[in-house]
Amino acid sequence: MDYNLTKQQIALKKEFEHFFQEEMKKAPPEYWQSGQFETVYISDAGWEFYKYMKGRYAEKGWAALAWPIEYGGAGLTLMEQLLFDEAQSLYGAPRDIYGIRMFGQAVLVFATEEQRKRILPPIVSGEIQYCQGWSEPNAGSDLAALTTTAVRDGNEYVVNGQKTWTSGAHRSDKIFLLARTDPNSSRGEGLSVFNVDLKLPGIEIRPVHFMNGDHVFNEVYFTDVRVPASELIGGEENDGWRQTRATMNFERSLIAFFAGTRRRLDEFIEYVKTTKRDGRYLAENPIIRHKIAQLHVDIEVGRSLAYSTAFAELSGNMLFSAAAASESRVFGGELYQRVANVTTEIMGLYGQVESSRWAPLHGIASDGYQFNIGFNIGGGTSEIQRNIIAWIGLGMPRLKTVKTK
Ligand SMILES: Cc1cc2nc3c(=O)[nH]c(=O)nc-3n(C[C@H](O)[C@H](O)[C@H](O)COP(=O)(O)OP(=O)(O)OC[C@H]3O[C@@H](n4cnc5c(N)ncnc54)[C@H](O)[C@@H]3O)c2cc1C
Repeated sequence: MDYNLTKQQIALKKEFEHFFQEEMKKAPPEYWQSGQFETVYISDAGWEFYKYMKGRYAEKGWAALAWPIEYGGAGLTLMEQLLFDEAQSLYGAPRDIYGIRMFGQAVLVFATEEQRKRILPPIVSGEIQYCQGWSEPNAGSDLAALTTTAVRDGNEYVVNGQKTWTSGAHRSDKIFLLARTDPNSSRGEGLSVFNVDLKLPGIEIRPVHFMNGDHVFNEVYFTDVRVPASELIGGEENDGWRQTRATMNFERSLIAFFAGTRRRLDEFIEYVKTTKRDGRYLAENPIIRHKIAQLHVDIEVGRSLAYSTAFAELSGNMLFSAAAASESRVFGGELYQRVANVTTEIMGLYGQVESSRWAPLHGIASDGYQFNIGFNIGGGTSEIQRNIIAWIGLGMPRLKTVKTK
C-alpha cells in the first residue's frame, strides 16, 4: 500500500505538530494530572482547557477537517483528518470523541439535511458538547437489549428510562440517545437515535464516582421527558440500530490509540536513559531494552493498521467495516494496557506512586495502570471485539444471545 503523502499534506502535518507543541505548553497541571482522555471531565481547570483547545481548533479551521464546508468542516479528506488526529494524540491534546468523532459522523451520514445544517456547526465551533447515551444497567455488551422508551405523542416523543456510565454528562449540553420507539420490538429492531438537550425537564444526572472519588461517569434518568419529534435522527423511526452500529465503528477505529501509546513510550524511553539503578542506567539492562523494543514494534504495527484503515476508507469501500474497526480497537486498547504494565513493572515501587514528588513522569505509570483497563471495556469490551472479528471478519457462525433468566 502506498502511504506517500502529498506536499501539502506534509506541510500540514508540520503545521499541526508545531501548533500542538506550542499550545500544549498552556495546559494547566490539572489537565496533565488527570490523564487527558475521559478524565478531562474531572477538574474545572482541565475542562476549561479542553474548551479553550476546541475553540482554537475551530479558529484554525481544523475542528472537522474531513467534513464538507457547508456543515462547518474544511472539506479535506480522511487523510488530513488522520494526520491531525495523530499529532493531537502525540502531544496529548484534547479530543472531542463524542461530538466530532461519533455523533457528528453519524449525523453526516444518517440525518436529514435540516438536521445536518442545524446540529453540525455548533459541534465544530465547540459551542455544544455531547455525551453518549447508550449503556443501561442491563444493556452493555448486549446493547440491543436496552429498555429506555421513546413514545410518540403529537409532535413530541416522551422518553422514560435510565442510562449509565455516561462519561461527561455533567459537563455536556446534549446527549445522543438510543431508545426503543417500537414497544413491541425486540433487540435491534425498533430502536431510534435522538438528539436530546440535557436541560429538558425530567432529566436527572447523578454522579458515579471512581474509587478515588473522581467524577467522570454518570447515571442519566429520564422521566416523561418531552423531546421534539424534529430531534429523531433521519426522521424515520426504528433506524437507530443501523445508525448506532456505524457510530460504533467511528469510535473504535482510532489512530489516537497508537499516537497516545507512542507518546507514553517516548517519555518512558527518556526516563530509562536518564535513570540509574545499582549504578547503571535502566536503558543498559537487556531485559528492559527488549520489553521496550517489543512495545515499539506493537505501536508501529498498530499505526500501520490505523493508516491502512484510513486508506481503505478513502477508497470509499470500508466506511462501515465493523471487523477493521474492531481489530484497531482491540489491538489499541490492549496495547495501552501493555505499555502501562511494562512501565509500572520497570519503575518498581516508584511506578506505584501517583500524586507525590517521588512519582516519576508525574505519576503516569500508576495512573495508566489503573485507568487503561477501561480501554478494554469502553466502546465495547475486548471479548466483544473478538466476537465481531470472528463473525464478520472471518465468517464464523454468529453466536446466539443466551437468556439467563
Ligand atoms: C472508560 C469508559 C467509558 C464509557 N463511557 C460510556 C459512555 O459515555 N456512554 C455509554 O453509553 N457507555 C459508556 N461506557 C460503558 C461501556 O460501553 C460498557 O461498559 C461496555 O459496553 C460493557 O458493558 P457492561 O459494563 O454492561 O458489561 P457486561 O456487558 O455486563 O460484560 C461483563 C463481562 O462479560 C463479558 N461478555 C459479555 N457478553 C459477552 C459475550 N457475548 N461473549 C464474551 N464475553 C462477553 C464482557 O466482555 C465483560 O468482560 C463506558 C465504559 C468505560 C470503561
